[in-house]
Amino acid sequence: MKTLLFLALAVSPAVAEETRQVDAHEHGVGQLDIAFDDKQIAIELHAPGADIVGFEYAAESSEDRAAVDAAVAKLAVPLDLFVLPAVAKCSVVQASAALESEDAHEEDHSNHDKEHKDEHADHADHEKHEDESGHTEFHAEYLLTCAEPAAVSEIKFAYFDVFPNALELEVQVVSNTGANAFEVERDNPMLDLRGMF
Ligand SMILES: [Zn+2]
Repeated sequence: MKTLLFLALAVSPAVAEETRQVDAHEHGVGQLDIAFDDKQIAIELHAPGADIVGFEYAAESSEDRAAVDAAVAKLAVPLDLFVLPAVAKCSVVQASAALESEDAHEEDHSNHDKEHKDEHADHADHEKHEDESGHTEFHAEYLLTCAEPAAVSEIKFAYFDVFPNALELEVQVVSNTGANAFEVERDNPMLDLRGMF
């Protein structure tokens, strides 16, 4: 597993991104990319809907919609999820979070039902397609600035406390000393970065 992650780092970011999306995500496992650049830290999180809200169907009930809204609100506060040493004096410059669905045509599904009832075979294909590729992911991007970036010696993953269905994050860290891949698990939610500086 480690070997595969290192290989992924050797290819260009665009290719790595494609590879990630071609493979179906594994429920319980998210991806976190962290890039140190001088005083700035850019962080990108991709996590299965199963990890964040416990379901991946399109939220239709008010309960499910509220769960998605609450999750997005939590994801928009990165320092509550990925806790950095106070001595690094980091603050959030930008944070954005959203739910991404592969069901691009989910929105006009009801129209589809009304207008094309006679095209039954077509409709059956459509349903099948949705069943097979109905995964959703939460995607968040953060930009932090730290007065003492070299003091970011570790990251504590409160993420696992906030999202009880999340089990693991595959973490890639890039700094001016190179790139490293880590697996951070619920059982030991700490990442030691002392080797990165
Ligand atoms: Zn899924």
